[in-house]
Amino acid sequence: MTDRWIDLHTHSTASDGSLTPMELIRYAATKRLGALALTDHDCVDGLNEAVAEGERLGIEVIPAVELSADHPEGTMHVLGFFINRRHEGFCSRLRRLQEARKERNPKIVQKLQGLGLNITYDEVVAASGGGQVGRPHFAKVLIQKGYVSSMHEAFERYLKKGAPGYVEKFRFSPQEAIAAIHEAGGVAVLAHPFTLYKEPSAMLDPLLGVLAGNGLDGMEVVYSTYSEEQSRYYRELAEKYHLLASGGSDFHGAHKPGIDLGVGMGKLQIPFELLEPLRKKSRGHGVSIQAD
Ligand code: AMP
Ligand code: ZN
Ligand code: FE
Ligand code: FE
Repeated sequence: MTDRWIDLHTHSTASDGSLTPMELIRYAATKRLGALALTDHDCVDGLNEAVAEGERLGIEVIPAVELSADHPEGTMHVLGFFINRRHEGFCSRLRRLQEARKERNPKIVQKLQGLGLNITYDEVVAASGGGQVGRPHFAKVLIQKGYVSSMHEAFERYLKKGAPGYVEKFRFSPQEAIAAIHEAGGVAVLAHPFTLYKEPSAMLDPLLGVLAGNGLDGMEVVYSTYSEEQSRYYRELAEKYHLLASGGSDFHGAHKPGIDLGVGMGKLQIPFELLEPLRKKSRGHGVSIQAD
């Protein structure tokens, strides 16, 4: 049987996954995935290694990224597929986001210390394994030190928006995130739309209208945690606004227990057929160097 399943949302140690890019692609090979997009947060540092390993093992690795964008209520993440990871303008925009993290991260440590927790920035950096530091690495240290017993508890008690260890950081506006991805020759896809609002909201429909007007190309309609009903609802909304369908597990390895590559919580299946329309659309967005 050919490898008909793919995964278009994954993380490596370049951001907050627990597998290196090479380990991730080797793991994808054991899962017999036909294609995989590496979508590290605000960072393309893992792409060279992942693309090279993909070429070695015969798995298509789509150069990609997951950008955080400003949204008043919840979390907005925009995936960019088929980006030119060497595009100068795009890379300088990413550096702006990376600087914002460097400003934010020590402030989180200060807040946690202020709450009486014994935690240092060096420990968090060590937990990141040398890649970009994100909140899951703070959570990892809090677990190691016995302050909390799970990632979930670390976010609920300390790290999520509104919790006492939370610190804001600079983000692009949604329009800027979409434009940055287009600038790098990629397609812009709204990730996990359920995180935009605290509860299912009638606001999603008009927001998608606005984002589609801003050039959004697609939406994640297949995802690890969706019920069938959710998936159907997002598909309908995507069709309404002529958004392409995308799907991924949001695999983070040990940093997101219970979510496995390709299969999510066990039943996820992302068909290869989703990939070609995304690829085709990316070609309309300009010259993109997809691999070398
Ligand atoms: P950062 O980019 O440093 O702000 O961290 C964001 C990452 O933290 C997300 O991409 C998730 O991987 C993780 N995350 C955010 N909220 C939660 C949560 N409530 N529980 C577990 N992980 C979370
Ligand atoms: Zn993450
Ligand atoms: Fe995300
Ligand atoms: Fe993600």
